[in-house]
Amino acid sequence: MYDYDLLVVGSANADLVIGVERRPGAGETVLGSDLAVHPGGKGANQAVAAARLGARTALLARVGDDGHGRLLLDSQRAAGVDTVGVLVGGAPTGVALITVDPSGDNSIVVSPGANGRLTPEDVRAAASLFQASRVVSAQLEIPLETVVEVVRSLADGSRFVLNPSPPRPLPSEVLAACDPLIVNEHEAKVILGDSAVGETPEDWARILLAKGPRSVVVTLGAQGALVASAQGVTRVPSVKVDAVDTTGAGDAFTAALAWKLGAGSSLAEAAAYAARVGAAAVTKQGAQESFPTAAEVEAR
Ligand code: ATP
Repeated sequence: MYDYDLLVVGSANADLVIGVERRPGAGETVLGSDLAVHPGGKGANQAVAAARLGARTALLARVGDDGHGRLLLDSQRAAGVDTVGVLVGGAPTGVALITVDPSGDNSIVVSPGANGRLTPEDVRAAASLFQASRVVSAQLEIPLETVVEVVRSLADGSRFVLNPSPPRPLPSEVLAACDPLIVNEHEAKVILGDSAVGETPEDWARILLAKGPRSVVVTLGAQGALVASAQGVTRVPSVKVDAVDTTGAGDAFTAALAWKLGAGSSLAEAAAYAARVGAAAVTKQGAQESFPTAAEVEAR
């Protein structure tokens, strides 16, 4: 019996957002809108998305002993995430400084802060969380050596889901543990590197699969997704919605997929549900604010 449907290991950031008429050049100052501060980071987002769907969720992350860290802890607890694995201190909380211009384009500077101090030793110290979790998910906004230790810490019979964002080449030990590896087009191309010879998402999925993961999911934004495993490659239909803001769609998709897989769904079934959750998330502004409950997904 597992205590948690999903353990998310990853980043927690404060997103500091200012609207600007135009970006400053070197040595220049411009005035912007009032500051908006949102809880974010891929790990924190995935945990909130899963908990809001009803998954018993825990987060293993590191935040600073500061106001941003408290904001992140509060938002996790408000969503129902168990924060017993959230470590505090060692560096300031990770921050994303985001300017948005009138056309909606973002410029972002990330200070990883405490996310960069989540160490393999922290993962080893959380062994009881791994033993208690049916599915474990991770992303790459924490050190890669920490993700390697996550793979080594999985309990017998538990499942590992990786969204390699921001993308970088992955050691074969990590690739072999993924079930699935979840990538968008950009991430697929970075991970494939010189071997990105295929033209279509089906090609990338097949070539990625040959690199070791037990299964692969390619997300395709408004075009939906596709899943690939030893059983073959299957398209997951897209869900038609009026998109308002795609921020966090990938995190909502990953969380929903991980939760459904743990509940016994097939990869194709889980991806179809995740596509509905991702579509719901793009109909509202923001990341965590846009994640639906299970009832909201059913009602759509
Ligand atoms: P992110 O911007 O969070 O990094 P991503 O690139 O990782 O996103 P996407 O492919 O954009 O991931 O979105 C994940 C899933 O959400 C898609 O596979 C799809 O199912 C759903 N989705 C995203 N955008 C839309 C949209 N405009 N309409 C319908 N569904 C969408």
